[in-house]
Amino acid sequence: DHLINQIAAGEVVERPASVLKEVLENAMDAGSTAVEVQLEQGGVRRIRVADDGCGIPKDELPLALERHATSKIASLDDLEHVGTMGFRGEALAAIAAVSRMSITSRFDGAPHAWRIDADPRELSPAALNHGTVVDVADLYFNTPARRKFLKSEGTEFAHCDDVFRRLALARPDVALQLSHNGRVSLRLPSGRREARVRSLLGDDFLNAARLVEADAGPLRLTGYASLPAYSRSSRDAQFFYVNGRFVRDKLLTHAIREAYADILHGSRHPAYVLFLELDPYGVDVNVHPAKIEVRFRDSRAVHQFVYHALKRTLAASGA
Ligand code: ADP
Ligand code: MG
Repeated sequence: DHLINQIAAGEVVERPASVLKEVLENAMDAGSTAVEVQLEQGGVRRIRVADDGCGIPKDELPLALERHATSKIASLDDLEHVGTMGFRGEALAAIAAVSRMSITSRFDGAPHAWRIDADPRELSPAALNHGTVVDVADLYFNTPARRKFLKSEGTEFAHCDDVFRRLALARPDVALQLSHNGRVSLRLPSGRREARVRSLLGDDFLNAARLVEADAGPLRLTGYASLPAYSRSSRDAQFFYVNGRFVRDKLLTHAIREAYADILHGSRHPAYVLFLELDPYGVDVNVHPAKIEVRFRDSRAVHQFVYHALKRTLAASGA
């Protein structure tokens, strides 16, 4: 079981940024209004996420570290299916298998907090005003083969920074702070989407961007798309979300590129922050949670909708 845990962990816990993504998503899911992330040495030495969410009851702390009872990965044979079936409910267990992890949490209304250490498994009373602190130290200390794949501290931090920004853009309602090696690198107050986009992409982007707002039946596209006046390197200014989840998808990228090509000839570097909303039934969520792919049931309709919505917005802007 230990071995399976470690192999499974290797699939979902690719690098520090994958840990940050899972732990930060949990913090957001807990109804937090403020979340603080502290990284040390690119996240390899430490990833610490503190939130002010609902907390975890004492009885449930051990469960949070278990793979779900209904785990799909019961044997090594099942591992080959991992790529398509995903790891829901197993992120913390996977992380715990390849790090020194502890969770300190105070459930709403509890007289005090509790802390659980993953290994050796131990519950003890702790001091914490509210919410949850997840502490992941010494990633891959027990899996040297994995550790060898890690890049430089700067590169691993950059990946963590990407993950943080992607989640931050989707959740302007949550105040967020990121620090690395004791230095605060991003401080984002809660507020409206526009303010969050401004904090993360700058005035240049917003000044050159058009508001996108389009509906067609169950499909809705909102956000910002830049005109070519905005010329920052494109890769770090292309954000697309499907039902609040960051994705990078060939079909969507193609629809966007086509719309830009039709309206702004020769604009090779579109910058955008776009949110596509649709009936959850229309999206296949059964993809690897550590990846950022998506599958649509009616991909043609989605492509057409995004293409036309964007094209109309860009054309109306008088570019
Ligand atoms: P999943 O999020 O898919 O359920 P995880 O392994 O990421 O699986 O988390 C296990 C469980 O631990 C969650 O379902 C949630 O109940 C609890 N949990 C984890 N992090 C937090 C948090 N920051 N605040 C409250 N509950 C949490
Ligand atoms: Mg989770």
